[in-house]
Amino acid sequence: MGKIQLLSPRLANQIAAGEVVERPASVVKELIENCLDAGATRIDIDLELGGTRQIKLRDNGSGILKEDMPLALSRHATSKIKNLEDLEGVHSLGFRGEALASIASVARVTLTSSTGGEGWKATVDGREMDVDVTAAAHPQGTTIEVRDLFFNTPARRKFLRTEKTEFNHVAETVKRQALSRFDAAFQLRHDGKVIYSLKQADTLAEKQRRVATVCGSAFMDQALSIEAEAMGLRLSGWVALPTFSRSQADLQYFFVNGRVVKDKLVTHAIRQAYRDVLFHGRHPAYVLYLELDPKVVDVNVHPTKYEVRFRDGRSVHDFLFRALHKALADVRPDEQLPANELAQQPMGSEHAPLQQNMGLGYQSSPVTGVNEKIAAYQQLQQPAGSMSAGSGFAAQSSAIPKMEEMSAGNAEIPPLGFAIAQLKGIYILAENANGLVVVDMHAAHERIIYERMKQSRDQQGIQAQPLLVPQTIAVSDREANCAQEHNEVFSGLGFTVERMSEESLVVRQVPVMLANANVEQLVRDVLSDILMLQSSDRILASMDEILSTMACHGSVRANRQLTIPEMNGLLRDMEITERSGQCNHGRPTWTQMSLSELDKLFLRGQ
Ligand code: ADP
Ligand code: MG
Repeated sequence: MGKIQLLSPRLANQIAAGEVVERPASVVKELIENCLDAGATRIDIDLELGGTRQIKLRDNGSGILKEDMPLALSRHATSKIKNLEDLEGVHSLGFRGEALASIASVARVTLTSSTGGEGWKATVDGREMDVDVTAAAHPQGTTIEVRDLFFNTPARRKFLRTEKTEFNHVAETVKRQALSRFDAAFQLRHDGKVIYSLKQADTLAEKQRRVATVCGSAFMDQALSIEAEAMGLRLSGWVALPTFSRSQADLQYFFVNGRVVKDKLVTHAIRQAYRDVLFHGRHPAYVLYLELDPKVVDVNVHPTKYEVRFRDGRSVHDFLFRALHKALADVRPDEQLPANELAQQPMGSEHAPLQQNMGLGYQSSPVTGVNEKIAAYQQLQQPAGSMSAGSGFAAQSSAIPKMEEMSAGNAEIPPLGFAIAQLKGIYILAENANGLVVVDMHAAHERIIYERMKQSRDQQGIQAQPLLVPQTIAVSDREANCAQEHNEVFSGLGFTVERMSEESLVVRQVPVMLANANVEQLVRDVLSDILMLQSSDRILASMDEILSTMACHGSVRANRQLTIPEMNGLLRDMEITERSGQCNHGRPTWTQMSLSELDKLFLRGQ
């Protein structure tokens, strides 16, 4: 007798369940996806004991035909695709036809459904895979009850955590799904208590309200709205200003064609866009939706479908990076003003924080010439505190009139207004159209210098220097091939990297700026980035880090007295500098206290 046997269907299902059914939350994810695929506009989720005793979902979708009831619970049975072509352009969330069968093999499941008119019911209890369909009353739609998860697989049951932890996982899953589909209403109840009750959201204001409910209103108040489209890719949603960064990567929601996705390439592109403005170790917060032709993204990579594979990962990466980088770079004083104003309006007003779409009230002055940049750059090499009357911004500003002189005239008041005084050698106080502006002078100056240094680097090109002793690096054959194939990543940034043998590279030249860096580590990291993500920004990131340190040391220190023209010069420079809303460490550089806020402090006009 041979040793190989066919698995029984029940055991095959239980093995499959190992992949998709990890805990109550994974059951809820699969079941919500089924409701949405059935066109439901209302989904009610009821849990008992964190979902370990019972998970019940009720929807108002299409319902299941009587003759389909047994098939719905069978493995490899789906109504969503028929052939490979359907799979390649799949529009539904499910398509593998194994969720219900897997769940039914490790829990007691009752399915009740109606397509309108009569209804029916089928029960499977894990041990028995035969399905008995009997008549039952049910409005159009489907109710599924999953009781005693893992009752027949004690080893799996042991992996369940406390009720509270399991419930938190379910709540997180429901949040994600609720963000993915605004056109469906969701209600989540735990042990009879309503936790979430989210109405259908049609208008922008309703959608924003849902995001605020799910992600917190602080997120929404500090969110930039994103709209970008290029090369058949469309990105929309909200990203938080860098000053709203988090210590955990727990407010990051990304959807690809309505599907919740946690993807390395996506995360990398977003991090890279925030790189310049986020303090080390902080995490950006976002709710973003990417839409693209289903044919250019493979969703059948993993049973839980959290990962995807883009046909052209490189251009998706570039697109995401560019769209977000631009939105973040555009955060200048002129655009933050309306944001702050709007943040004070109650949620639900039609034009909540959509500052991106508001016209720019203030036009940046033309970019200064290369020579001035070089001069500014050279000034940075001087010791700290060189922000004297001769420094870049002080000179250009002395001609700017003061507020009093302005009020009579018709000239426009710049967004950050005019300096009134310096406080404790740390802050600049200025008056603008809205009221009082307070600027952290070191933080602001640091950002300006950093942006200038980067510009001058981009304009002058990267200066390279040969290594006295070329450095040999032992790598794998795959890495060596990669280095050869993507040599432009290195050569474009001042590196000369050549292949020495099958498994070694030699570095002959490096950028002057990185002369003291750990070149070997950098080259290795770049290669592993390229192999994994098809791109790498490490070299630029390392240079930026060095620039950032230089900027920090080169910028004006606290306790330096500035003249009014110097202060005005700094304000004008902030207005034309990218990302001047935050310093290089992601701290805010300035804040506004409007007249009405001041009035409130003094109980004026109340
Ligand atoms: P898949 O979603 O991959 O098709 P499932 O095992 O999750 O596989 O579901 C099997 C089938 O049962 C689905 O293809 C669908 O036809 C039907 N079904 C499951 N849940 C529902 C529901 N809530 N409403 C209508 N039909 C459903
Ligand atoms: Mg499914």
